[in-house]
Amino acid sequence: MTFPIVSHPDYIAPLKPNHRFPMSKYGYLRQALIAEGIVTGEADFVTPTEASFAQIAAVHAPDYVDRVFSQTLRPEETRRIGLPHTPAVARRARLSAAGTMLAARLALEHGVACNAAGGSHHAGPDGGAGFCVFNDVAVAARNLLDAGQVHRILVIDLDVHQGDGTARIFAEEPAVFTLSVHAEKNYPARKAPSDRDIGLADGVEDKAYLARLDGVLDEVVATARPEIVFYNAGVDPHANDRLGRLALSDQGIAARDRLVFEKTRARSLPVVGVLGGGYDDDIHALAARHALMFRAAASV
Ligand SMILES: [Zn+2]
Repeated sequence: MTFPIVSHPDYIAPLKPNHRFPMSKYGYLRQALIAEGIVTGEADFVTPTEASFAQIAAVHAPDYVDRVFSQTLRPEETRRIGLPHTPAVARRARLSAAGTMLAARLALEHGVACNAAGGSHHAGPDGGAGFCVFNDVAVAARNLLDAGQVHRILVIDLDVHQGDGTARIFAEEPAVFTLSVHAEKNYPARKAPSDRDIGLADGVEDKAYLARLDGVLDEVVATARPEIVFYNAGVDPHANDRLGRLALSDQGIAARDRLVFEKTRARSLPVVGVLGGGYDDDIHALAARHALMFRAAASV
């Protein structure tokens, strides 16, 4: 393994058959990372243990965290999240937040580390939404700041949906700079202002996307002057994505991921990659698409 990859078998929580959330992709991704030689085997994954109440309550309302932990969410909260409130889903959310925290610690040590889950960017201060229970990147960022390990953080969110939860959590926090590049007409209908938002028109393809990204990355790195970067590498800007609206190819996604790692690593910035969204009925194609970030991380 060229860089640490955090994963856990319980990133997969059982759902009803044909649930619209592609839970099985996390397992297929583990297989794809082994098949592609990015990790040498199951034992090569770094394994997190569940995040604590205090770590999560640093960014989410304590009564909400308590309701997730005890499976006592209100029906409207469960509906907004779009996942059942089972013990396995709660455990998965705690493991995923812990995974991004662990990856952040490893990135500070090794330069690059990735969590093979996470990117739950719609979870905000008061609760979850859009398949996101706890905002793992926000939990990791907040805990790093509170521990005094870093003082300035940049979040590069390239999932096709706007990073509204992260934007809300850090709205009043100057130490965290949030960038979201997304499809303007996509979910969430009501956006929350990031420090920098780029809302793209439907159907944007590789060339235009990469040109836009190239410029904005230089700009935000210069403005934010981060000591660590969190990268949400959602693959839902892909043309085949059923929740997308943009039209990137596999090559475009790969070029995007390389661009992020090259620009940040050229400045010796530690980078934490997280998975983000991706919705394709072809689960093997989807897992391979998510593996692109890990390949890009391995190449720098
Ligand atoms: Zn998304």
